[in-house]
Amino acid sequence: MRRKFLGGNWKMNGLKSGLTALLTAVIQQLKDLATVEVAVFPSDVYLESMGNLLKAQHSAIALGGQNHCDHEEGAYTGETAPGMLQDIGCRYVLLGHSERRHTFGESNRVIARKFALAKQHHLIPVLCVGETEMQRDIGETEAVVREQINAVVNEVGINALAKAIIAYEPVWAIGTGKIATAEAVQEMHAMIRKHLANSDHDIAQNIQIIYGGSLKPQNAKDIFVLPDVDGGLVGGASLKAEDFTALAKLLAS
Ligand code: PEP
Repeated sequence: MRRKFLGGNWKMNGLKSGLTALLTAVIQQLKDLATVEVAVFPSDVYLESMGNLLKAQHSAIALGGQNHCDHEEGAYTGETAPGMLQDIGCRYVLLGHSERRHTFGESNRVIARKFALAKQHHLIPVLCVGETEMQRDIGETEAVVREQINAVVNEVGINALAKAIIAYEPVWAIGTGKIATAEAVQEMHAMIRKHLANSDHDIAQNIQIIYGGSLKPQNAKDIFVLPDVDGGLVGGASLKAEDFTALAKLLAS
């Protein structure tokens, strides 16, 4: 039985006081929710203070980084080392988010190296994959996603995915208000599971595959009931305590 997962990707939004208020409200509203694994992904600058707040409130909500460097340490000005995320109490890290791939030009190769380092530092990678609108239009969706996954599997081996999450996030659905149809989401999640099963049946069955792209309490119901969907990665709606906690409760129901 796969556990449901909900991640809140706060991206580069908010300041300390507002984010503290947001997290305080989320902690309060989810304190009795034991069946869903919830994680928040603040900017690196606020990881420590958000981590301290979670600890002070004895909250089960986990902390994750939004990215880390593809090098262990050294002369990489402006970057964050994977060991630093681990040191500060992160359990998860987002890797290959579409904004990293498309705004910052991260290749499959770089993301695979980051994945290897995350595992070395006992972080659980949330590997984001997904096609652009143009790739979908020309019928390349499945090939693109398979390639994104293969790059990681070739680098670290299939066993490294035993403790990892895959987030299927069609790029055209992120932050746009456009959500993929339930049929398309189920088809892609089942395709990803089947693709992994070619390498290892058990890992494919047990890995959490979550959906991301304009999820809101109003549209998530049809997605969360799909057999191969194990939760969601949420951007915009994670910045509103009411929406984010409603999504967590929907996932638990
Ligand atoms: C995301 O950034 O991963 C995301 C899914 O964003 P949004 O929910 O705003 O589409």
